[in-house]
Amino acid sequence: MIDIKNLTISEARELLKSKSISAKELTEAYLKRIKSSSKLNAYCLVDEENALKQAAVSDITLKSKTTPSMCGIPIGVKDLFCTKGIKTQAASKILEGFIPSYESTVTQKLWDAGSVMLGKLNMDEFAMGSSNETSVYGPVTSPWRSQDEVSLTPGGSSGGCSAAVAADLCLAAIGTDTGGSIRQPAAFTGIVGLKPTYGRCSRWGVIAFASSLDQAGSLTKTVRDSAIILETISGFDTKDSTSGQHAVPNFEQMLTGDIRKKKIGVPKEYKIDDTPEEIEKLWTDGIAKLSDAGAEIVEISLPHTRYALPTYYVLAPAEASSNLARYDGIRYGKRATISETEGLIELYERSRSEGFGKEVKRRIMLGTYVLSAGFYEAYYIRAQKVRMLIKNDFDTVFSQGIDAILTPTAPSAAFPLGEKIDKSPIEMYLNDIFTVPANLAGLPGISIPSGLDKKGLPLGLQLIGKSWNEGELLNIAYRLEQDTGFNIKPKCWWE
Ligand code: GLN
Repeated sequence: MIDIKNLTISEARELLKSKSISAKELTEAYLKRIKSSSKLNAYCLVDEENALKQAAVSDITLKSKTTPSMCGIPIGVKDLFCTKGIKTQAASKILEGFIPSYESTVTQKLWDAGSVMLGKLNMDEFAMGSSNETSVYGPVTSPWRSQDEVSLTPGGSSGGCSAAVAADLCLAAIGTDTGGSIRQPAAFTGIVGLKPTYGRCSRWGVIAFASSLDQAGSLTKTVRDSAIILETISGFDTKDSTSGQHAVPNFEQMLTGDIRKKKIGVPKEYKIDDTPEEIEKLWTDGIAKLSDAGAEIVEISLPHTRYALPTYYVLAPAEASSNLARYDGIRYGKRATISETEGLIELYERSRSEGFGKEVKRRIMLGTYVLSAGFYEAYYIRAQKVRMLIKNDFDTVFSQGIDAILTPTAPSAAFPLGEKIDKSPIEMYLNDIFTVPANLAGLPGISIPSGLDKKGLPLGLQLIGKSWNEGELLNIAYRLEQDTGFNIKPKCWWE
């Protein structure tokens, strides 16, 4: 049987094209590995039958002269994407048993390009969280372990995605990023995570969390794989009025590795007081690598950065409270039982209080509060204004010739499961400090694995690019990836 450890999409594509393996063999190898890795709890649903059916179709397509970009490539999909006829629950009890009657645009594009879906990946409930501990399916455990052998979070909310990619339970995973949910889990597990420009990928069929911030993207082993997927899932969609009418270039072809004369901004506001020394060092090393590659390093200022986190935690819950109003126990998923003397209001109340988890309820309450009469101007409107200031900061530096901005992805390496979830929610929210600004400004961001901390855990660096300029962003990331040469994999303790 083929060795799928460390295999990438670009390598698998060659093996498939040269007929060294078939899509069926490749799919079977992943299905087998998924079975022996159930301890990680990365998948919440594995659909063998569907996967083998798709693989069989791919094997036929592979016989023709021209094959689509992802033909025969087995991937995992976050449980937030509606998949026609396949259970989709956003890891929430309230969507228990929900089987969508339609397919999300992003996943449809992947199947049209010949990809094989192995299953649905675990996540934080409705994508709210940074540790994958709010899921109705239980937490995901990271394939990484520190020297003290404690179980770690794979990050969140796309924690099933990051664990599955890092543990070779799929060639790549499709996730979503509202405030960092692709980039932070990627950083925690030593892989690449790309959040494209807002509007690059259609949100049609992606269960909504905060519609003005949500964006689909990929978790992959390499920047090249990330480029391949981006080209596949991008594009204008008449079903999503916020999707952009921009050409989709061949991103892979843009990976030349030449970044000479590119201007890389290093924002001074990202140097926060209690950043661990090793993260500062990682950042300094990254800056030196880009400089050695011929880029010009420029210190920049994004003065409103310190308001990004509070702004996000007003706006995201506000939008979530509105988006989640539709789960009433009538139209989708779980319906509570009521007694004969009770009515519609009790049915709503009971279904919602039984169906939503603690964190989701907290967000709904926060969101309802900031949108309520009397507080709306003070919180929601003000946050919208600050969001504009944050966006303006980025626009200013990009208009001054900066091509990309380099920052750490997260303020720490992966933390132990249980360490933050039971403490104040602020502890958890602080994880998103470096990732939320890109969402608020709608910019593309990518996390590249760049080193290990003292405990031997992966750390990531983030590059933020200009809107609709993922090609250049990926090229700079590609260069950094080459020069960092990060190729350390977790030890398979779970097998
Ligand atoms: N951790 C952030 C939150 O809980 C981001 C989540 C996300 O990007 N989906 O809101």
